Amino acid sequence: MVSLEVQLKVNETERNQILERIDEGNGKRKISCEGCNQDHRIGDIEAIQTHWYVWPSGCTEGDYWNEGELQFICPETEIINRLLFSTSYDNLGRSIDNPELQFNDMYKRLFKGVEDTYTKETRGEWRNNYYVDSNRKMFGLTDYVPSKFGIRIGEIRLRGDTEFLKVVSRSVKGSESD
Ligand SMILES: [Zn+2]
Repeated sequence: MVSLEVQLKVNETERNQILERIDEGNGKRKISCEGCNQDHRIGDIEAIQTHWYVWPSGCTEGDYWNEGELQFICPETEIINRLLFSTSYDNLGRSIDNPELQFNDMYKRLFKGVEDTYTKETRGEWRNNYYVDSNRKMFGLTDYVPSKFGIRIGEIRLRGDTEFLKVVSRSVKGSESD
């Protein structure tokens, strides 16, 4: 009779082995590149984790950095691919079943390397890349859940329309204070 402690250890070991195999498979997944129109394996490409600055607010909260979008560098052309998602937000501005966070959780550590940057400018030439967002099922990510107000960040980014941005940010602020 094997003790419960030993059984637990065996289960943990098996679990870790399975997780490793999942990571191995995920690292081989390919993303279509906007820089060279070819597919690159996640394990073969360098990523960039961007950050954005949050100013201090109120009298207690200090400033800090939030993680922004993940990008990858085309190994053929060095063109930056911004991995963008049309994430939906609920009426409190919180993300629901956020596929971008899911992707970062599952895949970020599997890139060849991840460089952290803290500048506003995207380095060099860049393209928007919605490949992962358009193939969420393939990457094991949640599918789009319509938000109450239908705000989709990807649309805002795509439009790049400042008037539209103002309207959206106003409606987000308005709903937060309700
Ligand atoms: Zn490429």
